[in-house]
Amino acid sequence: MSTVDTAEPRQELALRSQAELTVEQVVAQVQKIQQVQRAVMKDGEHFGVIPGATKPSLLKPGAEKLCETFRLAPRYRAEKQAHPDGHLDVFVTCELTHIPTGLFFGEGLGACTTRETKYAYRQAERTCPKCSKPAIIKGKAEYGGGWLCFKKKNGCGAKFADDAPEIVSQEGGRIPNDALADAWNTVVKMAKKRALVDAVLTATAASDIFTQDLEDTGKADIGSAATASTPATGGPAVESAVADAPSDEVKKRRRQAHALISKLVKAGSAPQIDEEAINHGMTAEYGTARVADLTYAQLLNLIERLSAKEQELGL
Ligand SMILES: [Zn+2]
Repeated sequence: MSTVDTAEPRQELALRSQAELTVEQVVAQVQKIQQVQRAVMKDGEHFGVIPGATKPSLLKPGAEKLCETFRLAPRYRAEKQAHPDGHLDVFVTCELTHIPTGLFFGEGLGACTTRETKYAYRQAERTCPKCSKPAIIKGKAEYGGGWLCFKKKNGCGAKFADDAPEIVSQEGGRIPNDALADAWNTVVKMAKKRALVDAVLTATAASDIFTQDLEDTGKADIGSAATASTPATGGPAVESAVADAPSDEVKKRRRQAHALISKLVKAGSAPQIDEEAINHGMTAEYGTARVADLTYAQLLNLIERLSAKEQELGL
């Protein structure tokens, strides 16, 4: 025997319950989100603040925090479209159910495709003419410049002049990613994450406070096919796929972090700040000492810490 309520389509129930929201309830909901933001959410972890943007962007951990607050359970449906050329499009619908009542609360859409610049291309690496390893980096000016087969990248340590033809004739820059399948799992996760953030923003009225426009690009999103230095051209094919921080933004942030690090290191007189200390601190905090390997949220966090240090030292 079923009750009248459970016999009704869930969608109708949801519409009915939404129609019952008063202005005061809507205001209370926005206030609740703001309270949660102030009390529990951390800048750089649950949301990210981009200078110049009017609203902070809601990150996945922040969306999960709001799900906890409003007692919402996400459920996902994914559609995948694999293409003969190795590309994959993923569309995910995230449905939020209000746990105490079992009512449909709202839904969001997320899309991601390997055709997005950061998956579709990779940075061509110059290989060493001596050992054939793709370990060639630009030598630091203070160590005489030129090119170096970097030992930390498994290179042989050979050095080459700035204009060495065997190096400069090699093509650097953006080339099509020939290992697209490596990005498939990431693309599925990204679409899922975008759908969740979209659902939470829409269903909880959090879009009054947050935006989805500049989300984090996690390490997994960048992966071995990183195209950190490629321009954010040829944007995503679908509108809801713009959830990532554009690679321009990530680049800008990385430059900012590098500039802060060298400023602090150069300050010299500052006790206990040298490259090694920073590397050590970063490894302890983020599991990597490479700025390029940080997730977008970690990058924002690092910049915040470095800026605080900078102010503390009056630089
Ligand atoms: Zn070499």
